[in-house]
Amino acid sequence: MRMMVAGQEVEAEPKARCGEVLSQALSKKKFKQALACRCNGALLDLSKPVPDGCSELEPVYADEADGLSVLRHSAAHIMAEAVKKLFPKAQVTIGPAIEDGFYYDFDFERPFTPEDLAAIEAEMRNIVAGNHAFTCRVLPKSEAEKIFKDMGEDYKREIMDDLGEDSFSLYSQDGFTDLCRGPHIPSTGHLKAFKLTHVSGAYWRGDERNRMLQRIYGTAFATPKDLKKHLARLEEAKKRDHRKLGPQLDLFSFSEEAGPGMVLWHPKGALVRTILEDFEKKEHLRRGYQIVQGPQLLPLQMWEKSGHYDNYRECMYFTEIDESAYGIKPMNCLAHMLIYKSRIRSYRDLPIRYFELGTVHRHEKSGVLHGLLRVRQFTQDDAHIICRPDQLQEEIIGVVDFVRDIMNLFGFEYEIEISTRPEKYIGSLEDWDRATNALMDALKKLGSPFDINEGDGAFYGPKIDIKLKDALGRRWQCATIQCDFTLPERFGLVYVGRDGERHRPVMLHRVVLGAIERFFGVLVEHFAGAFPTWLAPVQAKILTVTDAHNAFAGQALESLRNKGVRVEADLRNEKLGYKVREARLEKIPYLLVVGDKEVEAAGVNVRVRGEERGLKSLEEAAAMILADCQEPFKRGGMSYSFSYSCPV
Ligand SMILES: [Zn+2]
Ligand SMILES: [Zn+2]
Repeated sequence: MRMMVAGQEVEAEPKARCGEVLSQALSKKKFKQALACRCNGALLDLSKPVPDGCSELEPVYADEADGLSVLRHSAAHIMAEAVKKLFPKAQVTIGPAIEDGFYYDFDFERPFTPEDLAAIEAEMRNIVAGNHAFTCRVLPKSEAEKIFKDMGEDYKREIMDDLGEDSFSLYSQDGFTDLCRGPHIPSTGHLKAFKLTHVSGAYWRGDERNRMLQRIYGTAFATPKDLKKHLARLEEAKKRDHRKLGPQLDLFSFSEEAGPGMVLWHPKGALVRTILEDFEKKEHLRRGYQIVQGPQLLPLQMWEKSGHYDNYRECMYFTEIDESAYGIKPMNCLAHMLIYKSRIRSYRDLPIRYFELGTVHRHEKSGVLHGLLRVRQFTQDDAHIICRPDQLQEEIIGVVDFVRDIMNLFGFEYEIEISTRPEKYIGSLEDWDRATNALMDALKKLGSPFDINEGDGAFYGPKIDIKLKDALGRRWQCATIQCDFTLPERFGLVYVGRDGERHRPVMLHRVVLGAIERFFGVLVEHFAGAFPTWLAPVQAKILTVTDAHNAFAGQALESLRNKGVRVEADLRNEKLGYKVREARLEKIPYLLVVGDKEVEAAGVNVRVRGEERGLKSLEEAAAMILADCQEPFKRGGMSYSFSYSCPV
């Protein structure tokens, strides 16, 4: 049969293997680099026969996402083999490729140590050096079961039972066999650049009632150079970890006594948060939102009516008041709808945009809690826009505009995704289509490119997710816009139309920063703790050379504070070099040194993030700092006018 292979026409023998066919079209060098192949969108092992009806076969290399994922997943098999060789008692479970590498979960009697990781990695290098082929067999369930039973691998048998299929594919390399759909690299020698990175605990199937497994993470890249770049980025990420910087910079902490997932905001962190929240309130008012506030608890019936009880119960907390059941709000929508319903609304009143810095509680499993990024109590910059169907597109555009200005303010790049109907959903298919189209049309009208995320919408409607990219190129979910026809229906929201009849409005749920806690954590890592001047809890620190300069430093402190600068003074009897180092560790943007010359000139010597700016009068120094605060706002046509004195 004739087929196109990597852009060339090739005559292939019937039942030929993909690898043989590829080798006819590729140079020797290119063929050696091919990890798998693609036919009609499906990825295949090179050892598989060319599927019937395949007219086009493409090689897959490690420089594309699919190839990298085949490489990393194969590395997980090689790691499992190494672990079994070194620790025969360990049981294997699952080992997928993930965004930056791969992992494999093992049931083992104790956590693996760094020494274990080094030994496993060395064993993997032996397996790679042996260049063993990956081979695939498809066996009936009974035979596959017997193989894993003889190996003592109970988890594999459980997985087979769950899949409920009649036959299973097994992959082997170098005597090690795993249950897997594939595909894999042709042989272990194709794994050229890998590294095991860390170990963590993980519950079997992510359920804390199950046994705790040992998860070993690793990463693999096409070339040693790519691997080195990635490892350097990991090192940098470790330095910026907000869980380390938060307590170090005295911004926030967690405590066993407060319980998991509960944040303690220290004065400096709470101040940054206050500035962020004040900015948000002001900016929402400027954009036609109204600030509202609802209760933390609502009767259980309300959550039943909204569908949260049926679809979201496991993430909610419940309590009782006067023998009535109440739910603690996991979302802010319901109270906003009650405010809307408190009076008759006309078509002329719409759109109505209710904004709340809404504190919510969600029961996250303890295993997924992660610093500020995943907590159990958090505050969203939440708004609900209730509008006429004909206003929907314009409202969505308004929100996307808002998000764009905020991303510019912080200097984030971002990507947009539309998430469509999930398996568990409420409402009619017609409404889902209408809502999904409204979101897509708005983005098309704005000319914003977007990806589709099938099945990832909220249970009550499709959504636009906006993911920002931080300084290390990592993506973080922040803003979402959800389109909802169902809740207005369930809660009987109406407006009186031009025709005097009652009509159903549409509701948009949206957040811009998302959870303030999470956004704060992202900011700490993005700026490596060095907040831009407008957000820095302490914007400037006055450092005296000797005690003789303390009197003037006191005057300078008061003067700058009166001008609206958040400033502290270090009047301790310490060497200037020591004071400077300490202030820089605190990531304070402006250091103002006071010595003989400065006292005489009634000024300060200014250093901005390590850069000398020379002797300035107090007026000049204050003006510099305040202008620096304005800078990021100019990008979004906004302005800065906050004044908080610093905590001392
Ligand atoms: Zn596999
Ligand atoms: Zn909502």
